[in-house]
Amino acid sequence: MSERLDRLKEINGKLNRLSLLSELLYWDMRTIMPDGGFDAHSDAMDYAETESFRLSNSDELFDLLKELMEPEEWEQLDDDWKFIVKTMREDRERSRRIPEEVFRRAVAISTASERAWEEAKQASDFAIFAPHLEKQIEITKEIKSYTHPDMEIYDSLLDDYEKGMDSETIDRIFTELREGLVPLVHRILAAKQPDDSKFRRTFDIEAQKKVQNLLLTYIGFDWTKGTTAESEHPFTLDLCSSDVRVTNHFREKDVIDPMFSAIHEGGHAIFEQNVAERLSGTPAGGCSYLGIHESQSRFFENILGRNINFWKPIYADVQKLQPELADVTLEEFAREINHVRASMIRTAADEVTYCLHVILRYEVEKAIFREGVPVSELPALWNRKMEEYLGVVPANDAEGILQDMHWSDGSFGYFPTYLLGSIYDGMFLEAMEADLGSVDTLLAEGRIGEIRAWLSEKIHQYGNLRRPKEVLLAVCGKEATAEPLLRYFRNKYAAYYDLAD
Ligand code: ZN
Repeated sequence: MSERLDRLKEINGKLNRLSLLSELLYWDMRTIMPDGGFDAHSDAMDYAETESFRLSNSDELFDLLKELMEPEEWEQLDDDWKFIVKTMREDRERSRRIPEEVFRRAVAISTASERAWEEAKQASDFAIFAPHLEKQIEITKEIKSYTHPDMEIYDSLLDDYEKGMDSETIDRIFTELREGLVPLVHRILAAKQPDDSKFRRTFDIEAQKKVQNLLLTYIGFDWTKGTTAESEHPFTLDLCSSDVRVTNHFREKDVIDPMFSAIHEGGHAIFEQNVAERLSGTPAGGCSYLGIHESQSRFFENILGRNINFWKPIYADVQKLQPELADVTLEEFAREINHVRASMIRTAADEVTYCLHVILRYEVEKAIFREGVPVSELPALWNRKMEEYLGVVPANDAEGILQDMHWSDGSFGYFPTYLLGSIYDGMFLEAMEADLGSVDTLLAEGRIGEIRAWLSEKIHQYGNLRRPKEVLLAVCGKEATAEPLLRYFRNKYAAYYDLAD
């Protein structure tokens, strides 16, 4: 065994310990920390993150990676380590090019911009946020001029979140989807809508928590490697593959949203819990491709969870735990979880209109970075697209362009990954049915474990080792296409909404 590889493992061990510390602090801050703990937590988190930044950008690590790529060392590495060393080296090469002054300025811009966004959203006034958004866009361009001088800016932003997924492919599949979806959505919205009065009740919160646990267990969440808590916005935190945590947010007036948040975050967690043991503790031991990650949470949430057959084996148990659902038949329940509405808010959208919310954001981001559309014109652009795609216009900035926080911390290029996840899901569903037969049947017979095992074998076990395009080729044998997702939507919603051909 190479001494240099041992040294790399040692450094990775240190980085893992630092990241565990700062993630635990984050978990605590988002779940149970009292307000008074804020300063001390932030301070300790800052410390852990600074140490980690120093170590991961140190000359020692950089040189070590370079030495490991020399032929005599390289030949001794197995395929996993070759991938890890190469990726670490590429990442470091880019991040070391950012001058410290620029990095510091970017952090300061983000802090001010996040605060301004909160204030602007409260006041529903885009003008408060606009100058900060301009700075955020400028600093993003500046950083990219160091890290990716060879790449078009928006392409490199997409690459940050979904490696290797270029805008040419995304343009092609988003256009394919949008052209098929807009007319379908318009027909659905014009059709007769279901009666949702039985869902406008008060639902006991303790009961909702028990339903959450039932759902997590049912889909295959491993409680020996995970736990739950409550937070303002649901999220998954992967401390390591044997400790993956999910949160949820419960409200008396909404029984459905927390169920689907549980299944969604559970899907993210199941991914991490099933990465191959041998990769544990290495930089390949978790999946950092957000589109692929999102494909797994959305597969559980939408493809499985919004299928009536998913509920057949468990619906009676859910009703027992949540007695307010006693007079809601399984059919009525399935109708409501597939209720399509023209909502202003992305996070409240159903699985169909959700796609258009993301396409809108993708197009606005392209307008910013490709077409140089000034910030002052963005709210009007947003509203025009809402009207075109969903037939509704936001009454104010808070329910329009200010609704998401992503742009306030500079996460441009992040939104498309949500939709890539759904597009991949259409493809995975097709491949899965070719292997295992009808998913409806598997679900109705309570054989969801076989579905979970298929996903783990085909996708989860590889962690970071396969890039998104490689996953698609290996699992589906083809390039990205929106066709299967469109077909899934057309079949499913033609039945729910009685749409004649
Ligand atoms: Zn997610």
